[in-house]
Amino acid sequence: MINLVLFGKPGAGKGTQAEFLKTKYQLFHISTGDLFRHHISNKTALGTLAQSYMDQGDLVPDQVTIDMLKDAVESHPEAKGFIFDGFPRTTKQAEALDAFLREKSMQISATLALEADDDVLVERLINRGKTSGRADDQDEQKIRNRFDEYNNKTAPLRAFYEGQGKFHSVDGIGSIDEITQRLTALIDGLI
Ligand code: AMP
Repeated sequence: MINLVLFGKPGAGKGTQAEFLKTKYQLFHISTGDLFRHHISNKTALGTLAQSYMDQGDLVPDQVTIDMLKDAVESHPEAKGFIFDGFPRTTKQAEALDAFLREKSMQISATLALEADDDVLVERLINRGKTSGRADDQDEQKIRNRFDEYNNKTAPLRAFYEGQGKFHSVDGIGSIDEITQRLTALIDGLI
């Protein structure tokens, strides 16, 4: 079973690349951002809670995010493996994910980090915001806040996964196809 974490700042291309990787390796793709947006469009209580954080570019509190992620994994017992996209984003989430997977005799196979400079990412997000309709993509202040959240809370996960020998950096600048090729070369070398 392969379980991948796609790691990287907002706009690094995690969602785009997950679409290709899930098909190639027959993995189930879980994006916590997409799950929250689904709750928001269905006007659930979790959606209302999440929206108040997301609209500001803040992280949603750990426990509700972890519970939602566990639910998503447990709803797909048939999956041959998972791509976690946008999760974990804090040390608490990473520890909870490890413990949860361990209970199921599963584990993270590799964490793949898409690397790109902030200026490139801001431009990508502003462009995406023109069509995505996402409030958090349309305002440079909110985008910068998402980067601050990443630097403060998510960046430490690099050391967490390096400590497990599972962290792999990938150059996230280039065409979508070039980046897919870099990722698949890396994954093929791991499995
Ligand atoms: P994304 O679609 O991955 O860029 O996520 C959009 C927003 O959803 C983030 O800015 C957070 O507000 C929230 N979010 C998504 N995943 C998480 C997570 N793992 N932990 C906390 N908040 C999250």
